[in-house]
Amino acid sequence: MSEDKATQVYDTVVARNPGETEFHQATKEVLACIPPVLAKHPELAEHKVLERLCEPERQIIFRVPWTDDRGEIQINRGFRVEFNSALGPYKGGLRFHPSVNLGIVKFLGFEQTFKNALTGMPIGGGKGGSDFDPKGRSDDEIMRFCQSFMTELYRHIGEYTDVPAGDIGVGTREIGYLFGQYKRITNRYESGVLTGKGLNWGGALVRTEATGYGAVFFTQEMLRARGDSLDGKTCVVSGSGNVAIFAIEKIRQLGGTVVACSDSGGFVHDPTGIDLDLLKQVKLVERGRMADYAARKPGSVHSTTGRIWDIACQVALPCATQNELDGSDAKTLVDNGVVAVAEGANMPSTPEAVEVFLQAGIAFGPGKAANAGGVATSALEMQQNASRDSWSFEHTETRLGKIMASIHDECLAAAEEYGAPGNYVTGANISGFQRVSQAMVALGLV
Ligand code: GLU
Repeated sequence: MSEDKATQVYDTVVARNPGETEFHQATKEVLACIPPVLAKHPELAEHKVLERLCEPERQIIFRVPWTDDRGEIQINRGFRVEFNSALGPYKGGLRFHPSVNLGIVKFLGFEQTFKNALTGMPIGGGKGGSDFDPKGRSDDEIMRFCQSFMTELYRHIGEYTDVPAGDIGVGTREIGYLFGQYKRITNRYESGVLTGKGLNWGGALVRTEATGYGAVFFTQEMLRARGDSLDGKTCVVSGSGNVAIFAIEKIRQLGGTVVACSDSGGFVHDPTGIDLDLLKQVKLVERGRMADYAARKPGSVHSTTGRIWDIACQVALPCATQNELDGSDAKTLVDNGVVAVAEGANMPSTPEAVEVFLQAGIAFGPGKAANAGGVATSALEMQQNASRDSWSFEHTETRLGKIMASIHDECLAAAEEYGAPGNYVTGANISGFQRVSQAMVALGLV
């Protein structure tokens, strides 16, 4: 009965949202885990919680006109999908990448709702962005684009309504231009309207590091639950953005060695360990490519063909983008002896890859649990903004560590309760679902 219900809801999602394959993929995974919860709590089905969860509360699509450095007019498309506000104001990042479309933003907003619920903080779920490609654009172009984007977005957001942050292609620089334009239009220094701000204008220590650090804390918890640790482990981390860089930093601090990372131009294998200072210089300061890193690091090899997942490792952290690790990559990782995989990116493993990891019985941390440290620290930034306070690095990092450990324990407990011990996918989906759905029922039919 409850299985029929989940299938029926999924069929409706596919029929109502044609062509939005990533959104279908994200809903399918969650819906597959829910039938045992509905069986125990039939009132959730009566309140049509699943149907409501799969339909965003509000979807905004807008034109973003701007002028490039040659004086030519460019038109991009902007999105903000306000998915669910049962637990708090919509919260989630903005992604600037040419691949962004409504289906991608919806999958991200859907995932965000459960992820944010898992953090235990008072934040709902939302996501936004644009098909704007920041690659190769000057600082001035980025600023003009951000100002135009905010000129529409400002009317939809607010510290009690919707609080955007960064994601792929949106970091402190972009948040600065967005915040500046919001302040100019509204004439309000409303710090809590955006997170990921710079440290001297309302930002919080540890926010930059939080997603990467959090994913590693989660990995460490999974290993601890199996009587193991990161110490001495060989690791592969895909990506080389904010998430990957700070995952690499924390792995090193905990005694592991990261031998490879990547960007859209290929991957670098550096068998003696990625040089973190050089990586930060190339990627964060110079906004360069992994090929530039390889050119400056003797002994490292840059590849434009093949798969980063072919490199043997015990711990793998996909920290680049959705569906970057497929079933055959997962088989290779398992054959090479991987013991833990944690998703720093959103939905980086395909459903086939997840199945391979679960069948192999390795510790697999899905993104909505493993990468929740970023948004959790955004909620800590909101707390600091609300009290006009700023906390020390140590205090904030300790809180992040506790949040990740509690997400880990909750996932394990929910998995155990629903007959899937050790399965963090089931645990995360059930635990996040329970928290949002109970609030939705309590708030009535809205
Ligand atoms: N974009 C990040 C995520 O996927 C962070 C969102 C936020 O801090 O609001 O969770």
